[in-house]
Amino acid sequence: MQVQRVVLNSRPGNNGEPSPENFRLEQIHLTSDLEDGQVLVRTLYLSVDPYMRCRMNEDTGAGYLASWKLSECVDGGGVGVVESSRCSALTEGDVVTSFNWPWQTHAVMMGGGLQMVDPQMVDGHLSYFLGAVGMTGLTALLGVREKGHVTKGANQTMVVSGAAGACGSLAGQIGRLDGCAKVVGICGSDEKCKALVEDLGFSAAINYRSGDVSARLKETCPAGIDVYFDNVGGATSDAVIEQMNKGGHVILCGQISQYNKDVPYPPPLSDKTQEILQSRNITRERFMVLSYMSKAEAALSELSQLVKSAQIKVRKTTCPSECAPSSLVDAWRYFASSLQVLETVVNGIENMGVAFCSMMKGGNVGKQIVKIPDRGKI
Ligand code: NDP
Repeated sequence: MQVQRVVLNSRPGNNGEPSPENFRLEQIHLTSDLEDGQVLVRTLYLSVDPYMRCRMNEDTGAGYLASWKLSECVDGGGVGVVESSRCSALTEGDVVTSFNWPWQTHAVMMGGGLQMVDPQMVDGHLSYFLGAVGMTGLTALLGVREKGHVTKGANQTMVVSGAAGACGSLAGQIGRLDGCAKVVGICGSDEKCKALVEDLGFSAAINYRSGDVSARLKETCPAGIDVYFDNVGGATSDAVIEQMNKGGHVILCGQISQYNKDVPYPPPLSDKTQEILQSRNITRERFMVLSYMSKAEAALSELSQLVKSAQIKVRKTTCPSECAPSSLVDAWRYFASSLQVLETVVNGIENMGVAFCSMMKGGNVGKQIVKIPDRGKI
């Protein structure tokens, strides 16, 4: 069978911005004769994620991440369907996922390395297994729960950076559901700010590219900041930490503003920010979702429930303005106990590099997904 795959064509360099030309599309022949334990899968959706930027370097700088090799097939999160199987645990038609899915339209994989998933958990939206009901959702939920110290009734203010992205858009909503009195998002465009407030229920949003972040934080968080879900690091995070209250908590989820720089992870803080953390007794512990996999099953089931109830909300709130007031009341009730999912979907394996680079520069709202259309066996 002829299949298409994406290989690493070149490295951007530790201090370089990635470009789509760092990836190359190839056509190869795949032998679909299976050995014991193997399955043939057709790829449905692939994920592009910020951590992949480290995998483009010769040395990822992280022991748990292997670098991608030049001219070899790139891999990451993927979802697909089993087309044939010589693995006793999987049969044709099963939907499966893996963190090491090759960027390839079809692949032969060991069945034991795949996780079978139930499409009912996502009401058939299989891409959610890469986002809200997958690693992204786990990062947001467990990040808030493990490091955020959110307490119902404590009148806390939470700030989220990278707030319109995959993790951030969920983390802010979870902060609200778990009891924060106020959730303010920071992101890179007015359109994203609008989505945060109007669609996701954030209290306010700040465009860090056009506004004075410190001044806007003062306006939107007059009682100071208690919890900070940090996806970006750098100047934005310095500005947030400066306005944090004594005993506050930083959830150190990611530092994307520094990923195109040759710095260790987490990147060193300025003396001033370090001093603020110490003098105000603010915790800032590194959060790694992979360290909490024993909690994944329960967390995924909770995320599934929250996402399913949100779909009812979507249907109700998109009704025309003349819709009955009782439907709106319903809508807001669902809204209060649900997770709204945002996705940006690009079509075609040939666009993996474009989608990755776009996400790294803020081209996505919510989770960046690449859909692999079924073009049959070439
Ligand atoms: P996103 O969907 O948030 O996409 C990345 C976003 O980062 C872009 O949309 C862009 O949005 C923003 N961004 C890019 N450059 C900058 C910059 N210089 N300053 C501020 N914002 C920037 O990706 P994910 O949700 O997948 O990941 C978010 C963070 O979470 C990353 O730091 C990632 O490494 C981390 N992460 C950590 C995990 C863990 O276990 N700790 C697991 C998964 C992710 P904008 O338009 O707002 O600039």
